[in-house]
Amino acid sequence: MNQRSLPDPIPALFPKTPDRDRIGGWLQLELEQSLRRVQAGPVAPNLDMQRFRAELNGFDFNEPQPLEDALRWTIERMEHGIVQMANPRYFGLFNPGANFPSQCADRIAGCFNPQLASSASSPVPVALESHVISKLAHRAGLGSEATGHFATGGSEANYTALLCALTGAHANFSDQGARAFAGPVRFYTSRDCHIAWLKIAHQAGIGRAALCLVDTDGRGRLDPAALRQAIALDRAAGAVPVMVVATAGTTAGGMIDPLHPCADIAKQEGLWFHVDAAWGGAALASNRLRSVLDGIERADSLTIDAHKWFATTMGCAMFITGRGGLLSEAFHASTSFMPSSIPGVDPYLNTVQWSRRFLGLRLFLALAAAGWTGMGAHVERGVEVIERVRQRLIASGWEIANDSPLAVLNAIPPAHLGSARDLVRRVVASGRAWVAPALFEGRDVVRICATHGETGMDDVNALIAALNERS
Ligand SMILES: *Cc1c(COP(=O)(O)O)cnc(C)c1O
Repeated sequence: MNQRSLPDPIPALFPKTPDRDRIGGWLQLELEQSLRRVQAGPVAPNLDMQRFRAELNGFDFNEPQPLEDALRWTIERMEHGIVQMANPRYFGLFNPGANFPSQCADRIAGCFNPQLASSASSPVPVALESHVISKLAHRAGLGSEATGHFATGGSEANYTALLCALTGAHANFSDQGARAFAGPVRFYTSRDCHIAWLKIAHQAGIGRAALCLVDTDGRGRLDPAALRQAIALDRAAGAVPVMVVATAGTTAGGMIDPLHPCADIAKQEGLWFHVDAAWGGAALASNRLRSVLDGIERADSLTIDAHKWFATTMGCAMFITGRGGLLSEAFHASTSFMPSSIPGVDPYLNTVQWSRRFLGLRLFLALAAAGWTGMGAHVERGVEVIERVRQRLIASGWEIANDSPLAVLNAIPPAHLGSARDLVRRVVASGRAWVAPALFEGRDVVRICATHGETGMDDVNALIAALNERS
């Protein structure tokens, strides 16, 4: 037997405790200082990318460099090289300034690096995630049997919904895929849905043509009569409808599809009913706003992204369903190398992923620290920010195109400010605030969303000033 000692661990990868303490403490201070600068600085990136690429090419990894140098370089480039979600004048897509408890969760997950594939490897994390899911399911009114899991994003959660619908729709889908069905498969959502559904249809092997984009009602919500008609036409043509998706919080207008009529149609037609509440699901935290989601409790499954309005770090989605048996059917597998194999419990047997990160801790710590009251107040605060913006814009001659009860505004500038698209370009280029162009019911609008939990009246004023500035 060879008793010679092994080579030392590689110190650049596994530094000794004093070095870790020193670098870790320094990093924490650096990040806090950087965050202060980001919050006061431009929202849009202002880095010369040509120079950056040249710098990047300097990293040929032939000569190691001190970790602190690489960390400092990375932080500096991040400070100038991204659209800053951490800036309270980012009124952008549904990306939040991350809440602090979820950032702490990432440190804990990174330190212990638990493997959440199996309940035997990670009994505490698996139980903790399942606890958070059941609390959300309870607030949604899904019933005590409801189950689910954390996912990398709303796209994964929505993909999971489609796989459940397909698995439930035909006993042979599991073995034969789309060929099991007597005709082409179809599923339905409004044309204002999140368009990742097209990728999802592609991934699932039923093809992008399986997605039927139903007309909206002129106010950005799915038109139930058009849905009924689309299903009838498809059936008459020999197609096989499997799922109705209602969006609670559309991407452009933040509109909520009529949940009860959609549920009625899905039940009458024997179709899976999924509610994509990736952003709007956060309203569940607020007693005042909960009623705008009335009908969500009738969903067969539900997508909520905690990394949107609950403001956890990316990406932290939830898939929740009252029909957990279908998850086990869709994702079953059998192998001898895994430390446990309990259907309905082990995440690798119920989800798209195998190896998985401890995502749920982010929402657990945020809810533990803030409670439903604090989280609800955070969500209501976003609605209040948008209400102030709405009043200010109307007072300066803007038209508001949408009437979402949530925190997104589709605004049309008065003629003297030029087109919405040009205006968005000007505002973004100025770095003073960040808004997006969007199309709402055929009209070009400036899309303004409250995404940052620390946005104040100064930030609202800065946004209004930037929006009202002529070219
Ligand atoms: C954001 C969003 C998605 C996609 O979720 P990701 O987390 O970006 O993968 C899907 N649907 C809706 C309604 C969304 O808002």
